[in-house]
Amino acid sequence: MTPSVIGIDLGTTNSLAAYVRDGKPRVVRDATGAALVPSALCFPGDGSVLVGTPAKARALADPEHTIFSVKRLMGRTLAELAKELPLIPHQIIERDAEAGRKVLHVEVGGREYTPEELSAMILREVRQRAGGATKAVITVPAYFDDAQRQATRDAGRIAGLDVLRIVNEPTAAALAYGLDRRKQGLVAVYDLGGGTFDCSILRLADGVFQVLATNGDTRLGGDDFDRALMAVVARDLGVDLSARDAQLLQHLRDQAERVKIRLSALPEAEFAIDLPDRAMKYRRRFTRDELETLIAPEIDRTLARCRSALKDAGVTVGEIDEVVLVGGATRVPLVRRRVEELFGRKPHTELNPDEVVALGAAVQADILTGGRKDMLLLDVVPLSLGIETLGGVVDKLIYRNSAVPARARTRYTTAVDNQTAVEINVYQGERELAEDCRPLGKFKLAGIPPMPAQFAQVDVTFLVDANGLLTVSAAEQRSGTSMKVTVQPAHGLSEEEIERLVLESVDCAHADFQARLLIELRNKAEGELRHTEKGLAAAGDRIPAEGRQAIEQAIAAVRAAQSGADPQPLRAALDGLAAATRPLAEEMMNAVVSAALKGQSPDSLSLDSPGVES
Ligand code: AMP
Repeated sequence: MTPSVIGIDLGTTNSLAAYVRDGKPRVVRDATGAALVPSALCFPGDGSVLVGTPAKARALADPEHTIFSVKRLMGRTLAELAKELPLIPHQIIERDAEAGRKVLHVEVGGREYTPEELSAMILREVRQRAGGATKAVITVPAYFDDAQRQATRDAGRIAGLDVLRIVNEPTAAALAYGLDRRKQGLVAVYDLGGGTFDCSILRLADGVFQVLATNGDTRLGGDDFDRALMAVVARDLGVDLSARDAQLLQHLRDQAERVKIRLSALPEAEFAIDLPDRAMKYRRRFTRDELETLIAPEIDRTLARCRSALKDAGVTVGEIDEVVLVGGATRVPLVRRRVEELFGRKPHTELNPDEVVALGAAVQADILTGGRKDMLLLDVVPLSLGIETLGGVVDKLIYRNSAVPARARTRYTTAVDNQTAVEINVYQGERELAEDCRPLGKFKLAGIPPMPAQFAQVDVTFLVDANGLLTVSAAEQRSGTSMKVTVQPAHGLSEEEIERLVLESVDCAHADFQARLLIELRNKAEGELRHTEKGLAAAGDRIPAEGRQAIEQAIAAVRAAQSGADPQPLRAALDGLAAATRPLAEEMMNAVVSAALKGQSPDSLSLDSPGVES
């Protein structure tokens, strides 16, 4: 049976899906047992796209056509990416779109793609592995802002998924550990992935989760440990890491990650580069101590974020009851030691840190689709939301860490006589001045009848829904003029662009259709087989032996076709079963009719027609 609802951890480095069966979350694995789909894409130039492991495998030989860490680009502007640009071996362009929006594009394999499209390709792969599930919960770092959440949701839609909810990764992790079963307590979730860091403080009370505070850095993770090693080697080699040398960068990154991972288990590991065509041969032994010295500042930064989260949550470190570790980079022994030191208790590491978030997302998906009704999830607004007022000051309507859904209203008036329109500029951020916050969008409430200054009463309402998406509405009370907009981030794709991308992926639509057909036929086959077996047990001895044999053969054919990946043979086998079971169905029907005519109770007989198509 294929799950129709899944939880997806769309990671910087790896992505994976999980689902709930018989009340238990499980990760989706491929035929080889692998759960992780590397978040890597390769465009070999012949029009094809490689996703996941085959893309990662091509990275070294074909770095110009391979792309990693798309999550870092989601919902960001070119200016915000300045720090990363030297390390991204691809051309990143910002193009102007209509309505003053800007859209980021990545040039790879001679074509331009938006980060949303690229993430959608990864999501599509994950989705296919899960048998073409149609509904999903997708997780994001708790610190993701509105634009980044929106970009993730858009990627899901482009991949043909009905995105039930965007959920914070730490919340999902706590769910995976079943910490909701605690009567009450405080949980700290420390999540250090490849490219993002989060620390969240959750409060549990009678099965209800509340995220008290989240703090993090969307540009800090295990990849930075790789970079610290790369920087040492680049110095030794006298190479410039900011030069656009995709092949060399990829070699260095690959070796650095290998060395880092080995040092989680061993005291020493060798960094080796062999590039005969460049006459470059390099060997260096790194000890675990050396790595720890290199990465200590990054780990300190994560701990400072944890302290801020505790402060925002208004709790002391001693009050924390449980600590959960999430993300591949928490396998680094120094990370575990320092986290244990900070919180004064051993963190949970029983579940695979790479799978925890997807497992929790599956639990959340199950809750949302009615599998579990016993739990409520509260989340918080990650950054304050407000409106620019006179003098460029941001008037905050909803404060950071308010529980969602959140609603706030405030009243403004007009500044000059006969002012017929008010411009509303929406910002996100903690700073006082608009120029230091992030613009989320602007709109104009027009059609206000001319009135003296200060006479109009404009009520502005902010509503943040359960997904953290903001709707702003404004109404002038005296005239009744009103309008409402879902704030489209000033950056990213428009509704039309998403629609176009959804329509454009005709190939994927065909594949999706095939996948859905296969699932439906498999479910149908289960039902038909069950009915046929019931029919054979009830009336099999009343039909000729050849008839029984034909049915047995048809059953075997359905079973064989059921495990195949092509819907057509299964459809043919089901047609065969329908034809073979017709005599049995007629026999049962006759028995029911004659029993009824004789006035007997037909209780022991069933009118279920085995195998006959309805
Ligand atoms: P995630 O984003 O959670 O998939 O985490 C990926 C990060 O974890 C990457 O930076 C990996 O290099 C890192 N990672 C995975 N396994 C290990 C390990 N055994 N030791 C250290 N880092 C690891």
